[in-house]
Amino acid sequence: MRRESIIGQPTPRSGFEALSVYDGVVGPCAIDLSDNTNLWGMPPSAALALENFQFAEVTRYPSAYAAELKASLARHVGVETSMIVTGCGSDDVLDAAIRAFGNPGGSLACCDPTFSMIPVLARINGLSVSTSSFDAEGDISVDSLLSGRPDVIYICSPNNPTGMNASVERIEAIAIAFSGLVIVDQAYAEYSSTSLLPLVSRYANVLITRTMSKAFGMAGLRIGYAIGNPVLVGEVEKSRGPYKVGALSSAAAIAALENDLPWIEQIVSETLSIRSRFVSRLSSLGYNPLTSDANFVLVPVANPAEAAKRMLEAGIGVRTFANLAGIGGALRITIGPWEMMEKCLASLEAP
Ligand SMILES: *Cc1c(COP(=O)(O)O)cnc(C)c1O
Repeated sequence: MRRESIIGQPTPRSGFEALSVYDGVVGPCAIDLSDNTNLWGMPPSAALALENFQFAEVTRYPSAYAAELKASLARHVGVETSMIVTGCGSDDVLDAAIRAFGNPGGSLACCDPTFSMIPVLARINGLSVSTSSFDAEGDISVDSLLSGRPDVIYICSPNNPTGMNASVERIEAIAIAFSGLVIVDQAYAEYSSTSLLPLVSRYANVLITRTMSKAFGMAGLRIGYAIGNPVLVGEVEKSRGPYKVGALSSAAAIAALENDLPWIEQIVSETLSIRSRFVSRLSSLGYNPLTSDANFVLVPVANPAEAAKRMLEAGIGVRTFANLAGIGGALRITIGPWEMMEKCLASLEAP
């Protein structure tokens, strides 16, 4: 169609002119260490469930709110099914939660740096964003997050892209002092040494979001979930709408939850030991990676674009950050099998 034949271009809602589509993708490369997914592959029972899927079933809608998957997740987490809501990735659950508890014209408070999708999800839902810095120890600042009287406070722990935890005491201080929604994003919960789960039964305003995209190795199937008080979860479910998790995704996720937890635990423990080996090798090369409680490390570098370009020439993809608050330029590197990390180290060593 010729461009001049288009007439009556509608105006998107206000604020959309400042938004753009997601640009965190590095593109094809031999070893992709850019997105913190499980580089050991998908859980074996999940793969089997996909192979054995009765494809005649795809003519039918899946369960509207993923009843069976919720039951399976509830057993895994150790809570009532009424405390779980699922979604098309945790991005979808985050979006729904912000929409359910954030008033258009209101604001969302989060730390800087944090998960790059959060400001976008807030703005898409008509909220402005107020950011606060981490304190000198890398913990969240309670007063600063509360100060703008936001509708929603978002805390990512372990935080993407820094890998650091917020302290349980400070998350609790926020939950107590604040009457709005507190989202605690635990996309990396499986790797973390800090358990935040008790918060959801203690505080009616805390929603923990998790995903099957990272440790569970199923990013392509788009399965996320949140855990919280049943009343809270009910509102998120309204906002999310029906049919967000497809039948295939649901079948694979249930199979993994029922049969593959030991497989996942094994990979998590391998990831953590490779992370410490990788970090000590980085240190001996003169880098100063941040302390991580997740399956990635953030490595400050003077010229991230140039470093990433050199690494990409060696087939290694990493996520670059041009100028993070309080940190400057940095590379975020996913921890995978040791052979991959050795190649990554070699590409970092190259002049
Ligand atoms: C990867 C990631 C997510 C999103 O994962 P989904 O694939 O949408 O489930 C959410 N939060 C953080 C902090 C992440 O790093």
